[in-house]
Amino acid sequence: MLLRDFIECKREGQKHTAGSIRVFVQGFVKGEIPDYQVSAWLMAVYFRGLDCEEISELTKAMIASGQCFSRTSRDQFWIDKHSTGGVGDKTSLILVPLVNVTAERVLGKGIVKIPMVSGRGLGHTGGTLDKLESIPGFRTDLSVSEARVNLEKHGFFMMGQTDDFVPADRMLYALRDVTGTVDSPSLIVSSIMSKKIAEGIDGLVIDLKCGSAAFMKTHEKARALGTALIRSAREHGVAIKVWLTDMSEPLGRMVGNAIEVFESYEFLSDYRKADPGLVEVVLTLGSSMLEMASRGSISPAEAKKALVKSLEGSVARDCFVRMIENQGGDWRSFYEYNTRQVQRVEIGAEQSGIIQSIDGHAVGQLLVELGGGRKKVSDRVNPEVGFEFHRKVGCSVKENERLATAFVSNPQQREIAERLRDAIIIGKSKVAKRWVLECLN
Ligand code: URA
Repeated sequence: MLLRDFIECKREGQKHTAGSIRVFVQGFVKGEIPDYQVSAWLMAVYFRGLDCEEISELTKAMIASGQCFSRTSRDQFWIDKHSTGGVGDKTSLILVPLVNVTAERVLGKGIVKIPMVSGRGLGHTGGTLDKLESIPGFRTDLSVSEARVNLEKHGFFMMGQTDDFVPADRMLYALRDVTGTVDSPSLIVSSIMSKKIAEGIDGLVIDLKCGSAAFMKTHEKARALGTALIRSAREHGVAIKVWLTDMSEPLGRMVGNAIEVFESYEFLSDYRKADPGLVEVVLTLGSSMLEMASRGSISPAEAKKALVKSLEGSVARDCFVRMIENQGGDWRSFYEYNTRQVQRVEIGAEQSGIIQSIDGHAVGQLLVELGGGRKKVSDRVNPEVGFEFHRKVGCSVKENERLATAFVSNPQQREIAERLRDAIIIGKSKVAKRWVLECLN
């Protein structure tokens, strides 16, 4: 197959054959197709899209690019949660230990397994892997056999795509991140579902982010993506629940790699002090995971109660630390590091009023500019930089009151940090805030 013909086929809006998609993915993973041709194809897909059959073939080809987790019995319930990408979204870090300890207590030890494969930062959104890698020693590159041991022994793991596990997604994901081809529904579905199907899961909860800081800016677009994700999951016999959640302002108080890990730990230590939006999203997604894993034997309300009970003790927090240590992370030095002073820039309110909006997209872009995300494939992410929001949308503020703190790595970054002020709009109207918008199925 001539690669140029393959690219031109999509550029002209024509349909790929199943065979050509397979050959393309295999060739790319083997290093036979240069990045510039793959980037051109990604851009053609961005504008032309893929139909259901093409998405299905691309997903299968991506799964086949590496090994999969095999299942010998269906006595256990393997479940995962995945987000379509947001700013300040640290829910996976909280949910893995929280759902694990709650499922053990409510459904029995060893019944529920959480094999979680996440991604790096994508575009202006943050990635779970980058957050985890801010912990010294934490390994996100487990082999399939190492991950399997963790799953059997501890009930969960958190890793990324590797050379052995959906390498096609690892490579396409990195290119999409820097070529402006992230927010393509066809590419998002195949990227998410290839990882999830290869995990061998029985059930999946999707956090479909919707709003100005999400890849899907409108409800209509988010619903269309949700429908495509549901179709793909059903094609592979995976139970799925899709939640639409707000992604206009950042989720939680922290935006940045290390500080989001810290916020997750604090959430599990005392959820009553956590950001209410984060609490609502975590409990909604977590209870969906638990209900699904119980195969319907507990209701969403019972599941939520059970999660809250875990949060009232220290079990989930202790499990969070175990999760980090299981994969080589040095929690103690990370924790001590975070209590050190990094350079701070305080952002004060220019007027009194009510916060009308915080532009999550701008916040994500500023984080990338500070070095907390990538501008090109080879960039190393700076785990230290980020923003802490002391006031969120709907809060009343007084002139000069501290709205946010920026953590920067050198004085030259001060000017970038100061631009955060433009992302926070203060006005007079009361704002009714909703974080969980709807369930699609
Ligand atoms: N998460 C993924 O794994 N892939 C995407 O394309 C977007 C979010």
